[in-house]
Amino acid sequence: MKKHNFSAGPCILPQEVMKKASEAVLDFNGLGLSLIEISHRSKDFVAVMEQAQSLVLELLGLENKGYKALFLQGGASLQFLSVAYNLLNRKAAYLNTGTWASKAIKEAKLFGELVEVASSKDANFNYIPKGYSIPADADYFHITTNNTIFGTQIKEVPDTDVTLVSDMSSDIFSRQLDFSKFGLIYAGAQKNMGPAGTTLVVVKEDILGKVERTIPSMLDYRIHIDKESMFNTPPVFAVYVSMLTLQWLKDLGGIQAIEKKNEEKAKTMYAEIDRNPLFKGFAAPEDRSYMNATFNLVNESHKELFDKLAKEADINGINGHRSVGGYRASMYNALPLESVQVLVDIMKELERKA
Ligand code: PMP
Repeated sequence: MKKHNFSAGPCILPQEVMKKASEAVLDFNGLGLSLIEISHRSKDFVAVMEQAQSLVLELLGLENKGYKALFLQGGASLQFLSVAYNLLNRKAAYLNTGTWASKAIKEAKLFGELVEVASSKDANFNYIPKGYSIPADADYFHITTNNTIFGTQIKEVPDTDVTLVSDMSSDIFSRQLDFSKFGLIYAGAQKNMGPAGTTLVVVKEDILGKVERTIPSMLDYRIHIDKESMFNTPPVFAVYVSMLTLQWLKDLGGIQAIEKKNEEKAKTMYAEIDRNPLFKGFAAPEDRSYMNATFNLVNESHKELFDKLAKEADINGINGHRSVGGYRASMYNALPLESVQVLVDIMKELERKA
């Protein structure tokens, strides 16, 4: 029996993907060779890369719209830098909604003027700022659609003529958005897409080539586009598992189908947080993330018992991040509703026993 895995990332992936991935490590496509011991330029691996890229664009509804999907390395953290390197000429605008947005801001400051249009730092990032204005002369506007640590999520994509760039590391492929509103989207694979080790970048080609500086090859999106994510050796295992997960999502009915499941999980979770007098939610209700539910005990003295109940119920990964404390239930695409029900049950049990 597997545990109920609420880990914030790396995190739960579909069981059938795990099984296929483990088989491919032993023998890939009946080649008598492992996936991880063949050339990344072999016919069999090139087909994996092409399939992964085309599934990304298909699932996001971005086929034939001038976008390219890249599988890179360095995590979302390197994208904080790469985005600015490739797109920031003079001025960039950022919305500061948490730790990751702050880190993106720190890197971008190396390249030009940075306008922080709004920040929710004053309330430990428990809400999404609204009603800010974006300077029309910014080279781009950067948002973080889901704030993994604080459990907030942007519900409406901002309406702007400025090129939109988004870190979607913790909610990509989880809900329907008009992805064509974005010039660039990036996401570390290790939540809804696959294992750690690769980072997805989806970029509209016509936003590139506008900065004056020379870009080092490994950071240059145009070089990676030219070389079809094979400028250097790609992380073959991470790309393969991502491809399998994207295929799993497509077979399930795509983002539209998973969004319904994610809504049901989140509603079940937040309903108990709101009903149970022993708990309180951390994030502002209107900005609550459907991926990461953050909540605290009203009375810390219940912690020992709650942790014991969680352990007995085979629940893994609900400890909150140190900057929020309490608990965080991450409910990524592959987490079944039954796991949320098990968590809700022990919250009720705590209420009975405490
Ligand atoms: N952005 C967000 C929203 C994240 O959740 C994370 C990691 N949890 C990162 C960026 C950093 O990603 P990486 O570890 O792949 O650099």
